[in-house]
Amino acid sequence: MPDVAFVNGTFVPLAEAKVSIEDRGFQFGDGIYEVIRTYKGRPFALEAHLDRLERSATALDLTQPYSRTEWTRHLLEGIRRAAYPEAKIYIQLSRGVAPRDHAYPAEGRPTVVMTVREFHPLDRSVQAAGVEAMTTEDIRWGRCDIKSVNLLANVLARQQAKQAKVFEAILVKAGLVTEGAVSNVMVVQGGAVMTAPEGPRILSGVTRAVVLELARNEGLPVQERFISQAELYGSDEVFLTGTTVEVLAVVRVDGKVIGDGRPGPITQRLAVGFTSRVG
Ligand code: PLP
Repeated sequence: MPDVAFVNGTFVPLAEAKVSIEDRGFQFGDGIYEVIRTYKGRPFALEAHLDRLERSATALDLTQPYSRTEWTRHLLEGIRRAAYPEAKIYIQLSRGVAPRDHAYPAEGRPTVVMTVREFHPLDRSVQAAGVEAMTTEDIRWGRCDIKSVNLLANVLARQQAKQAKVFEAILVKAGLVTEGAVSNVMVVQGGAVMTAPEGPRILSGVTRAVVLELARNEGLPVQERFISQAELYGSDEVFLTGTTVEVLAVVRVDGKVIGDGRPGPITQRLAVGFTSRVG
C-alpha cells in the first residue's frame, strides 16, 4: 500500500503531493506540526495531540482550518486508506502561500498537509538494552512549547548524535537539562521521577504527560524541575519519552554509565505500564 498524503482537503499518493514554493512553511518555517501513531490501528492520544495543535496554532496566530471532528475524520480516513498494520501520521499546518515578506497577510489561508506512513516500532532488543545519548548545548529559541516546523537546532543536535553514533542528543541550557532533540528526558533519583517543568523551554510531550500520570498512579514521587547536567550523570536511571520512542532507557550519557548500565527498575515498570496503557 503506498504512503498517503492529504493536501488542503484532498487525498493523493505521497509521491504526487505538492506545495507551492511560496508557502511560508518553506520560506520561513512558519508552521506547526504533530506526530501521532497508531496502536492496533487506532490513533493514540488523539485528543491530546489535537489540543497541542490548537495551542501551537493559537500561539502563532494561525487559523485552524478544521474543527476537531473534521481533523479526526480526515485522520481516520488517511489511516484507512494507507491500511498499514501501524501508522505514523504527520500533520503540518503552515501559514500558507503569500509573496515573500516576513510579516504575514491578515487574510492568509493555511496550508494543511498530512501524511500517513507505515510505523516501525523500535526493535525490542533496543528497548531491552537501552540506548546511549550525548549532551549538547540547547540553542533553540524561547518558545519550545510551540511544536513549530522550524527545527534547525533539533536537526543540528540530531546530526551530532548521529555522528557520535548515539541514539539521542540531550539538550542542555545554562547547565540545565531541557529535553531531547526529539523526546522528553526523565531521570530517577532515590525513587523519585524528575523531568523539566512545562513552560517555554520544553515541548510538553503527550507521552510525558501519560508517563507522569502512570508514575503518580504507581505512588512514585514526581518532581517537575530542571536537573543539572551533573545530576543527569549521577542519576540512578535516565529515560526518554516520546511518541516514537515510548519509554526508552538511556544507559550511557557522554560515555558515562548510568546506574549499573542497564535499564533500571522504575524505567522498566513505567515502560510496562505504558505498554498496557496503549494496548
Ligand atoms: N520534545 C521534542 C523536542 C520532540 O520533538 C518530541 C516529539 O517529537 C517530544 C519532546 C515528545 O513529544 P510526544 O510525547 O508528544 O511525542
